[in-house]
Amino acid sequence: MAIDLTQYIATVPDYPEPGVMFRDISPLMADGEAYRYATDQLVDYARGKNVEMIVGPEARGFIVGCPVAYELGVGFAPARKEGKLPRETVKATYSLEYGTSALYLHKDAIKPGQRVLVTDDLLATGGTIAATIQLVEDLGGIVVGTAFIIELKDLHGRDKIKGHDIFSLMEY
Ligand code: 5GP
Repeated sequence: MAIDLTQYIATVPDYPEPGVMFRDISPLMADGEAYRYATDQLVDYARGKNVEMIVGPEARGFIVGCPVAYELGVGFAPARKEGKLPRETVKATYSLEYGTSALYLHKDAIKPGQRVLVTDDLLATGGTIAATIQLVEDLGGIVVGTAFIIELKDLHGRDKIKGHDIFSLMEY
């Protein structure tokens, strides 16, 4: 039976700063049926793309991507912030409202030619997902799709990852 996932998203005004409407996915994850229902739809999307590997950025990209990887029987590689990965890495920087940030991926996380799905909880301005895509492509992976719980349309994140397929369960 279809579940209306919007009822499991908590909207928090002025978080983390004034003027921002934060979409909190914790109630969705806290409900076993809703979390499974959301995951099942992401799994269906990934099956259609013949995904061989999943990559998600710290930290909610793990929450979204890992259950999909488990269900498909494929691997998951975490894209992490500075100083978190113990072996040789590739790095991608991206802009924040103030300054820049960087994500890293182990050099052996992706094999050249591997079909990769990139996951995160939410697409906003697209900086995080663009950096994650760059890491995968630097290692020779083919990003066959990107999947999110939520897309914030007004922030035009999809413009930053033009040419990539985008799947989301909800739009605001
Ligand atoms: P972007 O890089 O697309 O601007 O921002 C997306 C990243 O910031 C994602 O990793 C996401 O977890 C986090 N993020 C930004 N805004 C929100 C929000 O309203 N809700 C949630 N859950 N995450 C957000």
